Amino acid sequence: MQFIKKQTTEPIDWNVWFTVPPDRRTFNYGTDCSSLPRIREAKQFLIDEQHSLCAYCQQKIDIDNSSIEHVTPKEHNKELSTSYFNLVAVCNKNQVKDHLTGKFHCDRERGSNIIPPVIFYSNTKSVANKTNFYFTAYASGEIAAKPSLEITIRNQIEAFINILNLNHSTLKDNRAKGALRGMTAAYSSLPDKSHKKSIFWRKQYDRILNNQFHPFREYLLVYIGSKIGLN
Ligand SMILES: [Zn+2]
Repeated sequence: MQFIKKQTTEPIDWNVWFTVPPDRRTFNYGTDCSSLPRIREAKQFLIDEQHSLCAYCQQKIDIDNSSIEHVTPKEHNKELSTSYFNLVAVCNKNQVKDHLTGKFHCDRERGSNIIPPVIFYSNTKSVANKTNFYFTAYASGEIAAKPSLEITIRNQIEAFINILNLNHSTLKDNRAKGALRGMTAAYSSLPDKSHKKSIFWRKQYDRILNNQFHPFREYLLVYIGSKIGLN
């Protein structure tokens, strides 16, 4: 649930990064990816563009634990397989199978299934005084499509969550027990009638809003947004 703002044009070196010796721009990543000597530079560009967060789950990623992901799978469209506008960076290592379902998450779970390109919808981004338009976040770490959505959009959001298994038990734990618990504990320890208590969540919201590198940023903004009266 990461909004990814793409540049309006390909990065200046994109052609170089996707050129197979001797000087042929590849349009078939599936066949040529092992022959691209500068492919890591393309991956690093995508990681930087996403503030070092997985395009799907918003966990922290770096050059060694991530992979280049085709939003429209390369099996479905070779032409798009090296298009800047179709590529993002996602987590791919350090995943364990969900102890309940035996499933992975993100690219490792979706395989070549088609997903709605939710990460390119502008309303997938929380902005000041307005939370993400599509998702609801729960204290358990679960995310869901916002119930008020029109049915065709709601189906897309639910498909996005389900195909990528974004409610994998580890992801839920990392959101609720990792990212959120420290804040909840700090809130609980404030005196009941303290002035600070009333502005506590607002401060947390602003802190995360201003840190585009914060893991699970959209989850936290949606969850905290509901506490301070944002929809
Ligand atoms: Zn991920």
